[in-house]
Amino acid sequence: MLKRRHYHIVDIESCVLCTAREDETIDHLIFNFPFSQTCWAKIGISYNSSISRVEATIRAKEIYSGKLFFEILTITAWNIWKERNNFIFNQISPTYSAWLERTKADLTWLRYRVSPGLSDYITSIVNTL
Ligand SMILES: [Zn+2]
Repeated sequence: MLKRRHYHIVDIESCVLCTAREDETIDHLIFNFPFSQTCWAKIGISYNSSISRVEATIRAKEIYSGKLFFEILTITAWNIWKERNNFIFNQISPTYSAWLERTKADLTWLRYRVSPGLSDYITSIVNTL
């Protein structure tokens, strides 16, 4: 992430969460990192990271059977990012349960931004996570 923003800090370009020392790119951190893949599987979004991000997002939306695809995609990715930042700034390793609780909390807040029918739909998603 920092590499893309033109910060040139030694050793900060590698993903701090991997022992494999992968570059910390959006594709790696948000979609390919095993932790992230677990999160996507839980939320029910299938993301093919071997194709371009735009194409993969379009395909994932076609495959996704639920409503509010982009909202749920954004909340999922945002909370993966927050887990990463919690490690960087607070030295707290990412955990699936922490990601899940943050995601459920954000989905619960999303209920107040949508129509009443979708609010019930979100509640059902949160209850199944
Ligand atoms: Zn990594």
